[in-house]
Amino acid sequence: MRIAVVGAGIGGSALALSLRAAGFRDIDLYEAASEVRELGVGINVLPHAARELTELGLARELDSVAVRTAELSYHNRFGQQLWIEPRGIEAGYRWPQWSIHRGHLLGVLLGTVRQRIGDHRIHLGHRVDPHDLTMIDADVIVGCDGVHSALRQLVVPGEGAPLWNGVTMWRGVTVTDSFLGGRRMVMAGRLSRRVIVYPLRDLGDGRQLVNWVVAVRTGDGRPMPKQDWTAETDPAEALAETEGIELDFLDLRHLIGGCESVLKYPMADREPIPSWRTGRVTLLGDAAHPMQPNGSNGAAQAILDARVLARELVRHAGSATPLAALDTYEAERIPATTAVVLSNRRAGPERILDLAADRSPNRFERLEDVVSAAEVGAIVEEYQRTAGFDPDVLNNRASLHARLEG
Ligand SMILES: Cc1cc2nc3c(=O)[nH]c(=O)nc-3n(C[C@H](O)[C@H](O)[C@H](O)COP(=O)(O)OP(=O)(O)OC[C@H]3O[C@@H](n4cnc5c(N)ncnc54)[C@H](O)[C@@H]3O)c2cc1C
Repeated sequence: MRIAVVGAGIGGSALALSLRAAGFRDIDLYEAASEVRELGVGINVLPHAARELTELGLARELDSVAVRTAELSYHNRFGQQLWIEPRGIEAGYRWPQWSIHRGHLLGVLLGTVRQRIGDHRIHLGHRVDPHDLTMIDADVIVGCDGVHSALRQLVVPGEGAPLWNGVTMWRGVTVTDSFLGGRRMVMAGRLSRRVIVYPLRDLGDGRQLVNWVVAVRTGDGRPMPKQDWTAETDPAEALAETEGIELDFLDLRHLIGGCESVLKYPMADREPIPSWRTGRVTLLGDAAHPMQPNGSNGAAQAILDARVLARELVRHAGSATPLAALDTYEAERIPATTAVVLSNRRAGPERILDLAADRSPNRFERLEDVVSAAEVGAIVEEYQRTAGFDPDVLNNRASLHARLEG
């Protein structure tokens, strides 16, 4: 079977690796960019995605360029702690949570794709034109071409721009001393003005690469910022947006002010669609289900798509047409990803911040007067179930791996 993968981002690379691991040999990867650069900032690979990357044999290499995040805490704008939870291995998963620079993750994925399918199968500088697919000699074409997907236009003609929720994110990575033990992810403020901070890489001298995000509801008439990974701005602009947030354990002035390059990005998604398929073309990752980044799940869902699609192509390899695999793939993945898209619109687990801020806009004396551990725990667990990383379910479910016979 000949399979064309369009887009060499996280989803496309994960698909190429999943197909190869499943025993497919005729795989071509088309990427519009002429070189793959280390763009973007930090990303969290949650245990459900870490499991898949581990089964693809990437764990050791990812460990060498990532931090195994051990805990996540939520705080109000005064830095008072609302909730803390263990993450990854510390939370009882059999797989870690990796916090990693998106460029380093892509570097590991694409480097492995090169080794496993061969350089000659990776076509850089090749922007696929959805209206001229005749030049692609493949039985199946998978659009992994991101939130501005060209191939999605074939499935949803005239869809237009992504939907902005009015929140703008300023994102950067700063080299700084480690904080709170060096393996903690922190969220503070409220949904209309919050900061998210987590370390990405140990530098071996007590310092770390630390990722930060300032997310502010700015959709008050100001234009939607450009949506790509390269819209740079001044750190002072991001710092000004943290006004009112004071954390005694983290110097935001130093963290944000000391950043060389700040990316500005709108928080956007698209409406879930009832089918991803037209003829021999299907969609995967952000092309299929772009989601707001609340809950850190976009890349994870792209990786799960890749694993399920490879498995379904194996299952249908003997049938008259492989296209049935595209139907069973989307029958499994559309409901699963739609639930995450919709939950993220309600801010996923991050809605804990507003729950507390609405009840106690000022400093509180006793946390139990504001939110109970049972209430917060219920929100956290509901999201884990929705996004497929409930620890018991994930630890005990069968592997998604499948392999062609012979
Ligand atoms: C601010 C922010 C924070 C995030 N944080 C997290 C997180 O912590 N955890 C998480 O799991 N997810 C996170 N995500 C989501 C995650 O980044 C995306 O879900 C993920 O990158 C999607 O991967 P993809 O391969 O589908 O698309 P992309 O990474 O966008 O890759 C698409 C590729 O297709 C190429 N391409 C485009 N058009 C064509 C064409 N016509 N022909 C050929 N190639 C083409 C592009 O050049 C690109 O290389 C975040 C997203 C944002 C915006």
